[in-house]
Amino acid sequence: MIVALAGGVGAAKLLVGLSKILKPEELTVIVNTGDDIQLHGLHVSPDLDIAMYSLAGIADETKGWGIQGDTFHCLEALNRFTGSEWFNLGDKDLATHIFRTNLLRSGATLTEATQEIACALSVKSKILPMTDDKFETRVTTKQGTIHFEEYMVKKGAKDEVLGVEFYGSDKAQPAEGVLEAIENAERVVVCPSNPVVSISTILSVKRIRQALQHAKVPKVAVSPIIAGSPVKGPADKLLRGLGYEVSAFGVAELYMDFLGTFVIDVADASEKKRIEKLGIKVELAETMMRNLDDKIRLAKAVLDA
Ligand code: GDP
Repeated sequence: MIVALAGGVGAAKLLVGLSKILKPEELTVIVNTGDDIQLHGLHVSPDLDIAMYSLAGIADETKGWGIQGDTFHCLEALNRFTGSEWFNLGDKDLATHIFRTNLLRSGATLTEATQEIACALSVKSKILPMTDDKFETRVTTKQGTIHFEEYMVKKGAKDEVLGVEFYGSDKAQPAEGVLEAIENAERVVVCPSNPVVSISTILSVKRIRQALQHAKVPKVAVSPIIAGSPVKGPADKLLRGLGYEVSAFGVAELYMDFLGTFVIDVADASEKKRIEKLGIKVELAETMMRNLDDKIRLAKAVLDA
């Protein structure tokens, strides 16, 4: 069993690569829920959805979120009332949120709701939220503290980050199946996801971090930073905001208490020695995933590392 820790878009690309090599039952994905947000009375789980849509082969890869070929009639109609919709929700995507919300309201846990959605989408790998408990990632800028999605989507991630808060992390317990998956894993893979608001979020659930520290199996991460920049998204602002260097080395510092091997881009070969001084083995690979071949090649490198 390979256990992957995943955020959104960066993770989804590697998950697709892994899914082409492994049998579906050989892959369990533990997903960040810090981005989850209530919108229009619905529970939206952006990272769980992108992981499931990607493994189901229905993700809109151009946009990096939502379902291929989706329409936005509902959102347009809503805009007629509010004139202020900032979070894009496609019509088919809305069906997922409606279904999930109804399950949660009828007493299901997020883990159970996710299992039902995955099953309906014919995703056979196990997709687990990191926690079933209330959890919210908040970002502080000069303007105040807001939900991560508001920072990212509404404000366009323009403002400098002064701090990040994982609201609920003090009480959050790993979701059912998460610790067992880590304990029984043959290998743990940390996807190239935002190191602060996707992976550190998962690591902020104390018992998950402890389980990773104790797991005596290869633990391999892929750097989301290539040549000193994120491929996409605000990882640079977030790393800087928390006082970390915007580099593979900066990310390695965040993972050094549990990580065995760090796969960094060939463009970052000069960082190898510095990272190895942290006690982490380093392997070099082409880590930019532009197409399916790239995703499979990187997935192979991660499984061989
Ligand atoms: P988000 O929740 O949609 O922002 O997605 P993630 O947290 O999964 O990933 C965002 C991170 O993935 C960013 O820091 C990107 O630099 C990184 N990323 C995206 N695509 C790639 C890629 O092809 N290769 C690598 N190495 N990193 C990537």
